[in-house]
Amino acid sequence: MQTTLIRGGTVVDAGRREKADVLVRGETVDRVAADLAAADRVIDATGCYVLPGVIDVHTHPVYVDDLESLPVTAAHGGVTTVIHYAYAKPGTGLVEAIRRFREEAERVSILDFALHGGLFDPKRQSGEIPAAMAAGVTSFKMFMTYAKLGWMTDDYQLMRTFDLLGRAGGMGMVHAENGLATDYLEDSCNEAGVDPVEAFVRTRPAALEAAAVGRAIAMAEVAGCPLYIPHVSARRALDVIASARRAGRRVYAETCPQYLTLTNQDLLEKKALLKIGPPLREDTDRDALWRGLLDGVLDTVASDHVARDKRVDDEFFAAPFGSPQVETMLQLVHDGVARGRLTLERLVRVLCENPARIFGLYPKKGTLRPGSDADLVIFDPSAKAYVEHRTQHSRAPYTAYEGRSVVGTPVLTMQRGEVLVARGECLASAGQARFLATAAGRADLRDLA
Ligand SMILES: [Zn+2]
Repeated sequence: MQTTLIRGGTVVDAGRREKADVLVRGETVDRVAADLAAADRVIDATGCYVLPGVIDVHTHPVYVDDLESLPVTAAHGGVTTVIHYAYAKPGTGLVEAIRRFREEAERVSILDFALHGGLFDPKRQSGEIPAAMAAGVTSFKMFMTYAKLGWMTDDYQLMRTFDLLGRAGGMGMVHAENGLATDYLEDSCNEAGVDPVEAFVRTRPAALEAAAVGRAIAMAEVAGCPLYIPHVSARRALDVIASARRAGRRVYAETCPQYLTLTNQDLLEKKALLKIGPPLREDTDRDALWRGLLDGVLDTVASDHVARDKRVDDEFFAAPFGSPQVETMLQLVHDGVARGRLTLERLVRVLCENPARIFGLYPKKGTLRPGSDADLVIFDPSAKAYVEHRTQHSRAPYTAYEGRSVVGTPVLTMQRGEVLVARGECLASAGQARFLATAAGRADLRDLA
C-alpha cells in the first residue's frame, strides 16, 4: 500500500496543535508524530498548518456550479467533503430525488459527499422520510420563507414533519425567516416605491429571523426532534439559540462566511451580486457571529454556495438569490483568526470536526486520528493573498470579495490519500466521489464546544 509522509508542518486537530508529521497509508491516516521515517512519497509542509479537510455541510449544486464543478471549486478551497441539498421539487418524490443526486454525483464528482433532503412539498414528501433515512439521508430542510416562490412550508406541515423526524430518529433543518410577513412588507415597499435594495433589507429584518428560529425550536421541542439552523445571520437569532441550548434543547447552529465578513453596506455597493437570503446585516451582527463561533453558540461555518449568473446592475428585484462562497470560506475564516477574532483550534472545530460530529461522519471524517480517512489540507498561514474572480474556479461570473486582501492560503488538498489540488492545480478526475450515509443530530452539544 502506498505511503505518503507529510513532513514538517504544524498539525491542528482535536483542539490542539503540535509540530508533527502525518503518515498516510493507502486511504487513511496511519500515524501523527514527530520525525517519522520517510515513505514512498514525501510532501513538505514546512511553515504550514496541516488541518483535517474542511467539511462543507451547506452546498447547492443545482445552479451554474453543478455536481461536477462545485466539488472542484470546493477542493481548491481546502474542502474535502460536501453535504449537498438534494432538492425534491414539487412533483418529485424525495427518495427519487436522493437517488438521482447520488447517482449523478458518483459519476461526475471528485469529492466524497452526503445529502440532505430538501423538502419543497412536505405535504406529499414527508411520508418518505423513513425510506430516505434507510437510503442514508437523515437531515431534512424546509423553508419558513419564500412564500411567493411557493417554497414555504406552513406550521401544520412543519409540525407534522418534525413529528415524523422525531419518531424516525432524523434531524430537522429550517430556513428561518417569515415568508408571509416578508411578502406583506415587500408589497407595501413596492407600493411606496422604496428603492429595491433598501426594500430588500427592510422586508427581511433580524426580528423576523429571530422569531422564526424561536418558532422552529418550539416545534422541534414538542416533536422531540433535533434541529439544525443553517445560515444564522442575526445577533437576535443567536440570543434565541443560546437560550434554548441553556435549557437543554438539542439545537445546532451554523453561520456562513458572508455573514462573518460582509454587511448591508456592501450590499448597497454590490447590489444584485450580494442578494442572498437571509440578507447581510449590520456590523453588530457580524461581531456577534464571530463571538458566537468563539464561545460555542455557533457550531459550524458552512458556505451556502449558490453560484448564479448575475451582474452588479441586474434588475435587483428579479435577480436570483445566492453567491459563490465555497472556495474562499477557509481563507476568510482563517483571516478572522489572523485578525484575532477566532482561535485556530476553534477554526478546525467549526469547519472540520463539528460538521463531522453533527452529521455522524466522525471520526471517519473531520479529524486526523489514526484510522481516519486521510482527508487534509495544507494551509500556508503567512501567504498574503488577494481574492480575485480571475483565480477562482466557480462558474459564477464574479466573487463577492473581489480585491479583498486576506492572510493565508490553502496550498494542497488531499482526499483519502490522493492529492486533489496542489498549488492551484486540480489533479483529480471525476468519479472518485463516494457517497456517505449520515446519522444526523446525535452529537452531544458538549462535544462541540
Ligand atoms: Zn442554502
